[in-house]
Amino acid sequence: MATFIVLLGPPGVGKGTQAKILANTKKLAHISSGDLFRENIKNQTELGKHAKSFIDKGELVPDGVTIGMIRERLNRADCKPGAILDGFPRTPVQAVALEKMLAEFKGQVNVVPYISAPEAVVVGRISGRWTCRLNGHIYHQMFNPPKQTGVCDIDSSELYQREDDKVETVTIRIRVYLEQTIPLVEYYRKSGKLIEINGEQAVEQVSKDLYSAIKNHFM
Ligand code: ADP
Ligand code: AMP
Repeated sequence: MATFIVLLGPPGVGKGTQAKILANTKKLAHISSGDLFRENIKNQTELGKHAKSFIDKGELVPDGVTIGMIRERLNRADCKPGAILDGFPRTPVQAVALEKMLAEFKGQVNVVPYISAPEAVVVGRISGRWTCRLNGHIYHQMFNPPKQTGVCDIDSSELYQREDDKVETVTIRIRVYLEQTIPLVEYYRKSGKLIEINGEQAVEQVSKDLYSAIKNHFM
């Protein structure tokens, strides 16, 4: 049976960092909607051009476009054993669409770790974030610095600061999160799938807590 894990939490709390670790250890696909949009923007696809106008303003890309992109991703072979969804769903409409999509492969959302931390913590994390141009590996100038400034340890590609990580846009992204994504906390709590994780801890401790939260969902 496939296992689908939805990581919930504010922008910058560490979802991508944790999803990459977990995908590696559990051999699950890592689906980051933000990474998929950035890949489309880099490749100048129509979807990328459309998404960019929303992303640059800190707004959500419309549900129809986002759901279509995730549907295509979920259909790829590497999702057969399951996937970690990072950044999707972000609205109640997306959450309902996800259930329908997973039901098509006789799957479901198994568990929803909700990683939270105070706003000041996530703002500090975002302001020090450096992202790898080639594969989206994530660094932080203080908490997880690369061995060589500006260069990814894993594939030697250039590290850059995301355009939407500037302070003005981050303020909007947090507001959008509170308005549009927070309702999902109650939605998944009611379904009994939500497990709260304290994101205000070092990466290793968050990983341990996350592992405990999900371990019953594996054979
Ligand atoms: P998200 O995917 O939720 O937006 P990221 O995984 O990209 O968050 O993390 C945001 C920033 O915070 C990155 O610079 C990352 O290196 C750093 N980070 C992630 N988890 C922690 C942590 N537990 N403690 C300190 N810094 C962290
Ligand atoms: P992230 O990489 O998760 O921080 O996402 C970066 C940006 O991509 C967000 O601020 C949104 O503009 C867009 N985005 C990512 N995931 C979604 C989603 N599920 N729904 C709508 N927009 C999204």
